[in-house]
Amino acid sequence: MDIDQLLEREIKVFKGRTTASLSELRRLAVRLPLGVASAYQAQPPYPLVFEYAAGQWAYDIDGHRYLDLHAGFGANVFGHAHPKIVEAICFQSKRGSHYAHPTRSLGYYSELLCERFSMDQMRMCNSGSEATMEALRLARVSTGRSKIVRIEGGYHGHHDLVLMSMKPDPKVVGPLPRPLVQPSCEGLSEAIAQEVIPLSFNDSKILEEVLSSQEVAAVILEPIMCNLGFIEPLPGYLEAVRAACSRHGTVLIWDQVKTGATVAWGGAGELYPDALPDLHCLGKTVGGGLPVGVYGGRQDIMNLISQGRADGYGTFNGNALTVAAGTAAMELLDQQAYRTLQNLNHQLQDQLRELIKAHSLPAYVAGSGAKVGLFWAPKMPEDYRQYLEMVDHKAAMACWIYLANRAVLGAPGSDEQWTLCLPLSRIEDLYPLTEGLVDLAEDLD
Ligand code: PMP
Repeated sequence: MDIDQLLEREIKVFKGRTTASLSELRRLAVRLPLGVASAYQAQPPYPLVFEYAAGQWAYDIDGHRYLDLHAGFGANVFGHAHPKIVEAICFQSKRGSHYAHPTRSLGYYSELLCERFSMDQMRMCNSGSEATMEALRLARVSTGRSKIVRIEGGYHGHHDLVLMSMKPDPKVVGPLPRPLVQPSCEGLSEAIAQEVIPLSFNDSKILEEVLSSQEVAAVILEPIMCNLGFIEPLPGYLEAVRAACSRHGTVLIWDQVKTGATVAWGGAGELYPDALPDLHCLGKTVGGGLPVGVYGGRQDIMNLISQGRADGYGTFNGNALTVAAGTAAMELLDQQAYRTLQNLNHQLQDQLRELIKAHSLPAYVAGSGAKVGLFWAPKMPEDYRQYLEMVDHKAAMACWIYLANRAVLGAPGSDEQWTLCLPLSRIEDLYPLTEGLVDLAEDLD
């Protein structure tokens, strides 16, 4: 069966088994554009509506149980409704959820995060987007410069500065190494476009050239590009970026909203210790399932806040419930937890590689820690342009629906990975996924 036939059949099956989701979605769409709370939730054919989740399982309103590897866009490495996190939230909520004053618990949480991600100081906010916005502003104050280098195609949240050149159209922005800037949606400021320099991942030569103008305040990048599948840095790339930033007085920001507390206990810093940034941005997993953002790093840069030269506002910054949930999550996700996840990850990768080989699937497998995926390109792309050329988006979509119809919830599309969670420890726990993929490969033969 070819991909088109498979997709057509699976969409029919999907629609047949999710009628309650579809009719609820129609009701939701009366008051909510597209029936969802974020554009990324409006995934084709239509989003499923959920009502209950526990451990590795999530249940939709049609009564189907899914092995949840979507994990709330990769946040829930601890699994759903973990008793320790539930207990921490309940305990705190009875003592008040929000004071807009410091708490002792915030101090402990900060110690945990600063130790884990090698930060001298940090500030909490409420989303990954806020974290990248604040970190970029700090970099500008610190350097007295305004330009920002970002990696073409990556995602760093939804404020204007980082929505420039997020998945641009190569026909519009022209060839590498110096593509034009393209706003990714309407309504972004023209003036801000002038501040952004998009460059290609894994090209440290052009970065060196651009930084030598000494006009660039910050380079922001994901150390592993987790919004284009899973694109690892080529050997030496991150170290060269680190050296170039140091040489030219540019602040290096690692956006670890996805990699932090997923790819290893200490995030990407544990994997690339010779390339550590000046500032980290964190989110997702570190909030224990509640909204969170964190930015922090070098003492002298964070001192700009204490000195009143940079601010960092937010009514809900340091929210006591998020701190309680985040602290419980960080304690649960200790070094042993990542050893277990990594072990499971390797076993899964081995099985998937065998499957790819046996069925000559045009796919590659990659991952680390809690992050893993089967990506529909013949090999790992090195940057956004290669990603566009190599990835078969239709196959990725077919794979997602195929698995959803067989009780596995992945993150949809070609951009995301699967996220393993704490309740999964043995390869047998991934049975619906491994079986589903064997069936898919056989159907495609
Ligand atoms: N940076 C990265 C790398 C992300 O993946 C995301 C969200 N997917 C963000 C920033 C933005 O985080 P949030 O959605 O919490 O604003």
